[in-house]
Amino acid sequence: MADKRDYYEVLGLKRDASQEEIKKAYRKLAMHYHPDVNHGKESEAKFKEIKEAYDVLSDPQKRNTYDRYGHQEDSFGGFGGGGFGDFSSGFEDIFDTFFGGGFSTRSRGQAASPRRGDDLRYDMEITLEDAVKGKETFINIPRTENCSKCGGTGAKEGSKPETCTTCGGSGQQQVIKNTAFGRFVSVRACEKCRGEGRIIKEHCPECRGQGRVIKERKIEIKIPGGVDSGSKLRVPGEGEAGTRGGPPGDLYIVLHVRPHKIFKRQDNDLVCDIPISFVYAALGGEIEVPTLDGRAKLRIPEGTQPGAVFRLKGKGVPSLRGFGKGDQLVKIKVEVPRRMNANQKNILREFAQACGVDISGHEEKGFFDRVKDTLGGK
Ligand SMILES: [Zn+2]
Ligand SMILES: [Zn+2]
Repeated sequence: MADKRDYYEVLGLKRDASQEEIKKAYRKLAMHYHPDVNHGKESEAKFKEIKEAYDVLSDPQKRNTYDRYGHQEDSFGGFGGGGFGDFSSGFEDIFDTFFGGGFSTRSRGQAASPRRGDDLRYDMEITLEDAVKGKETFINIPRTENCSKCGGTGAKEGSKPETCTTCGGSGQQQVIKNTAFGRFVSVRACEKCRGEGRIIKEHCPECRGQGRVIKERKIEIKIPGGVDSGSKLRVPGEGEAGTRGGPPGDLYIVLHVRPHKIFKRQDNDLVCDIPISFVYAALGGEIEVPTLDGRAKLRIPEGTQPGAVFRLKGKGVPSLRGFGKGDQLVKIKVEVPRRMNANQKNILREFAQACGVDISGHEEKGFFDRVKDTLGGK
C-alpha cells in the first residue's frame, strides 16, 4: 500500500478541508475524469483513485480513521485492525470488490460479462497455542454456489436463457443527458432484463432462476504459526460463486486470539508473571515455569529483585516470515507471606538482628529516615 497517494493530495485539499470543500473538489475532478467523459485506462484509474479518496474523506468516521492511521486495509470499514500477513496476497482483488470494480468489469457495448463472485469474510476465534503453533482445521461456511441442476444458467432443464432484445444482451441502456457541463452519456441497467442481458422464460425449479443456491461447505484451512489477532488468511476461490461463468470470490478468515490465562503477547515475545517466595528471591535457585511446550527450568540468581525479568530464548512466537522466534519473558513477582507462625517470626527477627535492622518500634520514624537516606536528604 506504500505507493498509494495521500487522499488529500488526490483531491488537492488541505487536511482541514470542510465537507463542502471535499464535495466540491470531488465533483470538479470527477467531472473531468469520469469514464463516461474521458475514456482510456489512465483516466479510469484516476477516477477510481478520486472516488476512493472521496469515499473515505466524505465519511466523517472513515476520515477520522484515515487521519489517524493513514492508508489501511480496513479503510473501507469491513476489516478490523492488523494487517495482512505475508502469507496472504491478492489484496487488490478484494479492494476492487469493495471500491466498485464496476468500471472495469463491464464496459459499454459488450454483452453482460462474467462477474467475479463476492469475497467472504469469516471471523474465527483461536487459542494462543494455535496462534503460536499453527493449526489445520475445518470450518463450515454457507455461501452461494452455482446451481448444479441448471449449471448456473437459471433456466429449466431443456430450455436456455434468451438474449434480451431490448439491450441486445449487453444488459445496459444508454441515457443521454444535456447539462450545464455538457452532454453526458450515462449507462444504466436495462429495464427489461434488469441488467442481466438475457431473459429466462422458464425458471429452474431448484434455484428459482437465480442460477445460484446457498450451500454450506466444509473448508479445510491451515493457520500458520505466528499469526495474531487481526491476521487474515486468504483462501482463494472459496468465496461466493461468480455469475455468468465468472470466477468465485475468495474467502478471508479474520483471526481473533483469545486472551490466555498465563501469557500475554508482546510482539513475538510471550510475557508471564511468576510469583516466588521472598526467600527464594533472596537465596536464588532453580524454579519451574510454564511455557507453551510444557514446564521449563529457570535459574534465578541470589538477590533477585521484584519485577526482575528473565528471558527464555526461543520460547516465544515464531515469526510469520518463516525464520526466527520470539522469547518468553518471565517477570518475577516476589511474594511476602501473609501469615507466619511464632517460630517463623522469631527466625525473621533474628535475621533482622543479624542485618543490624532495628525493629524494636518507632516504625514510622525508621521508615522516614530510610526514605531520607535513599533521597540523600537530611
Ligand atoms: Zn438452477
Ligand atoms: Zn436487456
